[in-house]
Amino acid sequence: MPVTLLPSLPTRFDAAPEPIAPEPASSGPLDVLGVPGEINLDYAASAPCARAAADAVAELLPWYASVHRGAGALSRRCTLAYEQARQTVGDFFGARADDHVIFTRNTTDALNLLARALPAGTTVVTFAGEHHANLLPWPRGSVRLPVPTDPDAAVRDLAAALTELRRGSNPALPVLVAVTGASNVTGELWPVTELARVAHRHGARIVLDAAQLAPHAPVDLLALDVDYLAVSGHKLYAPFGAGVLIGRADWLDAAPPYLAGGGATSHVGPATHDVNWATGPARHEGGTPNLLGAVALAAVCTALDDADRAALAAHEQALLTRLRTGIAALPHVVELRTFGPDAPRVGIVSFVVVGWDSSDVAARLAAEHHIGVRDGLFCAHPLARRLLSEAAGRTGRRDLPPTALRASIGLGTTEAQLDKLLAALADLG
Ligand code: PLP
Repeated sequence: MPVTLLPSLPTRFDAAPEPIAPEPASSGPLDVLGVPGEINLDYAASAPCARAAADAVAELLPWYASVHRGAGALSRRCTLAYEQARQTVGDFFGARADDHVIFTRNTTDALNLLARALPAGTTVVTFAGEHHANLLPWPRGSVRLPVPTDPDAAVRDLAAALTELRRGSNPALPVLVAVTGASNVTGELWPVTELARVAHRHGARIVLDAAQLAPHAPVDLLALDVDYLAVSGHKLYAPFGAGVLIGRADWLDAAPPYLAGGGATSHVGPATHDVNWATGPARHEGGTPNLLGAVALAAVCTALDDADRAALAAHEQALLTRLRTGIAALPHVVELRTFGPDAPRVGIVSFVVVGWDSSDVAARLAAEHHIGVRDGLFCAHPLARRLLSEAAGRTGRRDLPPTALRASIGLGTTEAQLDKLLAALADLG
């Protein structure tokens, strides 16, 4: 049957750009794959795949067989690889001995799983500065604190909210605090350790959305003293489709299975409700698992473990400073930020170009300069809108566009790429 092509794709997608210059050949485990000439500055959406992940997938492909379901040699190797991946990923994120490491599709999936595992009567407390994945899964009655003006205010606001909550409700009812490690809009770091301390002081648990933090800095459950952690493999240089929820076993073992089906049970009888659900990660991993995704994610974890992360972070900070300094020098470009200009952050910068629609800027960058950035409100509408209005107030400009642009950097980013972006933005002035 002939394939019908869509008659009219939006202009910003239909001109396939010609490569302009070959990129250097990649060989180290943390080198990232890419297309020569295309500049990807959208790591925060999905990072390119690392060589370590691609190699791990290629190595396992000939062995491809069912996981947890076969007695053959291929199947046994796949089962072993999957369980070793679980161990590696758990170790990488500092899982405690009694934590579960549950493979999910991504951070959204991990947080939805946790939302379904909350004991009855749990109140979730979060901030309006979160990604939608950490706002929308939580049950009715959740408390959403306003976006704080600085990290100390976040800690104070949380303490006040938890005090109030504990005063007004049965102290035996569970409370879960849900916070991000690094903002997907501004890259700013949130005071996770302090928030965890406050949560625990009030008898609450805390889940860390580490989707943006993990690609840039070591994240360790034990060191941060968080109860749960959610991560996406595709933001951590592994392919799409594998993420992880790690955390305390008790709620997870007591909850109904997230995905009911094969693999999630230890016994199924003839009657409709005659079923014993498995405990452990299997309870929530019904269906055939994403072996390649898990193995690729584990391979990246190993490569990052072996790397000099302080050196990687220093390099990233140097690139980030170059980008932010360049943006600050352009009078028609305004950076968005929640906290002060010097607040610590990872390699993510959101901004607007005065007088330009953000989607037009993104389309021009792609079509004319082979630069890929993100535009919109970044799945964090309450935060992005608030920051746009803060930027309007700060600059006195009432004509800022209603959406923003975001450039985000990572392991494959070079100074030359950032300079190209800055030059292209300068041309819009
Ligand atoms: N949390 C943060 C901070 C994010 O930036 C994202 C994605 O951009 C998510 C959660 C959701 O990640 P995913 O789309 O992989 O589920």
